[in-house]
Amino acid sequence: MGKLDGKVSIVTGAGSGIGRAIASLFASEGSRVVVVDVNDDGGKETVNKIRNNGGDAMFIHADVSKAGDCENVVKETVRHYGQLDILINNAGIDLPKAKPSADFTEEEFDRVINVNLKGAWLMSKYAIPEMLRRGKGVIVNIASVAGIRPLPLAMPYSVSKAGLIMLTKSMAVEYGNRGIRVNAVAPGWVSTPMAVRAASAYGATYEDFTKMFLQRIPLGRFADPTEIARVVLFLASDDSSYMNGAVVVVDGAISLA
Ligand code: NAP
Repeated sequence: MGKLDGKVSIVTGAGSGIGRAIASLFASEGSRVVVVDVNDDGGKETVNKIRNNGGDAMFIHADVSKAGDCENVVKETVRHYGQLDILINNAGIDLPKAKPSADFTEEEFDRVINVNLKGAWLMSKYAIPEMLRRGKGVIVNIASVAGIRPLPLAMPYSVSKAGLIMLTKSMAVEYGNRGIRVNAVAPGWVSTPMAVRAASAYGATYEDFTKMFLQRIPLGRFADPTEIARVVLFLASDDSSYMNGAVVVVDGAISLA
């Protein structure tokens, strides 16, 4: 028996890193998974990995910052699988260069907010009516500890994740009594391509960057994407049936150090 037997899940940004780990784990727990990404190669690779392990998945290309794409993802999911139980808003981007707030361009600010915050709202906007129709559903937003405590020289990213945490709480309050639970996970550093890009945004090699941060992480290492995925599985499954509006920090205690 899988923890998600009979469920249908959408995972955005599932062509890489944390999203791929979530999609793979969900499939191994019995969910049919819709892999959503702007990166077609990455998305298709995730689907192939799931199918090779005996799971059921399909890929839909979508840019979550575009309303039409998000609407299409939900429509295609229901058309293909007949239902939607779980939405994981994981797609996210970082900034190409770390700098103080006043130095960011309007385009840089808009892009990060549009993908990380507006994208999660748009996906939820189209998923929620489908969940309400069946009287149940779960949404998990992948925020960041940067949304709780500012990441140095990355204001738009931190602001987008703080907004995502408030989106989580707002929707939890609005839809809890109609059968939809909404929670967030706030990871610290996770070993993914985004973490590698973050090193170069700070003008450091990945080796120097990890060395610098490892000293500040009480657990002494970056997380593996599967360690985030396991917490997301808990929030998506009935094991967390009384959790709603929570922000679960999964950061090796870096935010306390
Ligand atoms: P990742 O390896 O870069 O994966 C993100 C995926 O999302 C990529 O495949 C990316 O495609 C895709 N994507 C980007 N913009 C998109 C859009 N507009 N629509 C649909 N898909 C889009 O990053 P990750 O580290 O796994 O991060 C996943 C989530 O965790 C993000 O929300 C991130 O902010 C959050 N997070 C990460 C860390 C960390 O240390 N890695 C820590 C805290 C929180 P492209 O590759 O083509 O851009």
